[in-house]
Amino acid sequence: MPRDLRCLLCFLDDDAQADLRLEAQQLQPRHERALAHYIRLLNDALARLGGVAQCPLHGTNDPQVAWWTDEFLQTVRRINIDDVCRPLITSYEEFVGGHIQRATETLDAMLRQFGYHQRASNRFTKGIFFRGRTGSLTRYELFHIPFTKRQCIKNQRYSLSGQPLLYLGLSIVDVVSELRGDPLNIAGFTFCYYWLREPEKVRVLDLGNALQHMIFNNLRGVAAAGANVRDIAATNPSFSPAFPPYTEAFVTFLIAAMCSFRRTNITKDDTFAPEYVVPQLLAHWARTNGYDGIAYASTRVDAANWQMSGFVKPNHYRENVAFFTHFDPRSNDEHDLALLNRFEISDVVQLARIRAVTDGELQALRRQIVALENANPKGNIIARSGIELDVGFEGLELHDPPGTVTPYAATDCGKVQRHLQFQFLTARLSDW
Ligand SMILES: [Zn+2]
Repeated sequence: MPRDLRCLLCFLDDDAQADLRLEAQQLQPRHERALAHYIRLLNDALARLGGVAQCPLHGTNDPQVAWWTDEFLQTVRRINIDDVCRPLITSYEEFVGGHIQRATETLDAMLRQFGYHQRASNRFTKGIFFRGRTGSLTRYELFHIPFTKRQCIKNQRYSLSGQPLLYLGLSIVDVVSELRGDPLNIAGFTFCYYWLREPEKVRVLDLGNALQHMIFNNLRGVAAAGANVRDIAATNPSFSPAFPPYTEAFVTFLIAAMCSFRRTNITKDDTFAPEYVVPQLLAHWARTNGYDGIAYASTRVDAANWQMSGFVKPNHYRENVAFFTHFDPRSNDEHDLALLNRFEISDVVQLARIRAVTDGELQALRRQIVALENANPKGNIIARSGIELDVGFEGLELHDPPGTVTPYAATDCGKVQRHLQFQFLTARLSDW
């Protein structure tokens, strides 16, 4: 039974939305009808939302956060959910009806109406990405699937069968879950990190839950520091609940929600996934409109086991970026080397070969980087070195078995991630 959504913070919770989608799928086995039912549930839920202060789950939030969120609710209520979501159903119906060109045109019209053809994303400029595979592998084997092995490439949520993408995760637990592995048993995996050398030159269509990152994390921090959010919003437009990028992020939240239906009724003989049609069309649109990749939240991380503590749950730890590869038929290369060269790719690691990196060691590296920044204020060294990376994982906990709570850093996934992070910070120090 889906939980009761009482305030906008409840509504923006990815797990709550997953419950609504499941309800729609259970009532309506045909996917186009499940999509339509979900839109009804979204509209009903949004109409019923009340203030944050009255919410049993979120009522203890700072009153300034509550004020901001309630104001923002008034803004997003002016968005017509049907304008965003109905074209996605039409596009789906056209595609499965065999009218593929028409399906892309329908999607294109909606995305242009909401300005996606001129949208940029800078949310992925600071962190490092992770990649993994099962087996004891070399660094070369952690590149994307070679062009010569297209036959191995399955139908995926954001890519068609036979077309390799470079899939990266923002955490090790995400990488393992995406590979359908058990995050509590990662001995058989090989991992490395990928770091964008020039992130400012990369354009990613961001379907992650940017609202949580952009607004609620910042907002809570500002309120907790004792600043008056209402005064700041009055004088600083970028803090106002009416600031257009926040509304745009809400529209993106709706599109991402429509793309995140779980596959139902899968048997091993199934090859087509109705749930993947809209996300695949969207990825196709992004590729043909100048984007380098697409960022999205994983539907595979077990959110009951891996939880963020606190009121608002940033889902950085279960986000992925899929970069498009470009195939040159004249080249003998098995990989898109131009894409791979945009990254620093680390040496590979396996659980058995790492040692536990202590808080003290990471802090010592951070102190050195801060000192470098101070000596070279224009180097932007702190931002480039991903010091903020930890913020996304501070509150992450493993709840397994129920009642037992382990901080992420103490889990095997967390240990591998810290090991790679240590390597990464060390590499940054030698840069300068
Ligand atoms: Zn709530």
